[in-house]
Amino acid sequence: MSRLLKNYANKITQIYKSGKHNGIDIVGSNNGKSVCDYLLAHSDGVVVDARSNYNKTDKTGNSYGNYVKIQHNNGYYTMYGHIKYNTVKVKKGDKVTKGQVIGYMGNTGHSFGAHLHFEVRNNKDEKIDPTPYIDNDLPSTTDDAYKTFVKGVQSTCGAKVDGIAGLETLSKTITVSKSKNRRHAVVKVLQTYFKSLGYDLGSYGVDGCIGNDMVKVIKSYQKDNGCISDGVITARNKTWKKLLKLI
Ligand SMILES: [Zn+2]
Repeated sequence: MSRLLKNYANKITQIYKSGKHNGIDIVGSNNGKSVCDYLLAHSDGVVVDARSNYNKTDKTGNSYGNYVKIQHNNGYYTMYGHIKYNTVKVKKGDKVTKGQVIGYMGNTGHSFGAHLHFEVRNNKDEKIDPTPYIDNDLPSTTDDAYKTFVKGVQSTCGAKVDGIAGLETLSKTITVSKSKNRRHAVVKVLQTYFKSLGYDLGSYGVDGCIGNDMVKVIKSYQKDNGCISDGVITARNKTWKKLLKLI
């Protein structure tokens, strides 16, 4: 069975080669014969790009032809190329679940024979080798980011650094806002974490200082997580508790 095809096992027709072939080519295998199949979403996520109307015989105009690009919960992307004309079942902004049919294998774009061109991209949208993930979950980078965050908070606030948030860590946290501790070392840790969660830090980025953009980010995080949206991170208003996953 396959995580990417509905009815058949994977038959790899071209492997990943960094810089030359930034994905992996797959067809269905039916007793050794190559077959087409419905394509499935690799993991839960949101469609960030999709195209279904490419129906030209010109193979040079668009390398992917019709495609679907999904961003997953850990920030990684998967990309499905050469999908058959007019069979893409999802559009930009749609939420998809693992195993959901997203289209039908095809031969659109720069393709010579129907197949799926499958790519995995990290949270910076850089193409990486998809081979380890064809039938496995994507790495849990949000967990890694969280651990780094907890350690960063602990070290900058003077708590014991063990990467495990608890009440001791919470008791050491400080109030952070535009008027209080705006340049404290923990601000950089917070900015890095907000960025990994997908918040837009604005033009100054991770600069270790709370300005208007960072206040906006704090407010959106608070709103998204059921805290009072006041732009101030304190233990009392539960924002620290939420960030450290203690509630
Ligand atoms: Zn390919």
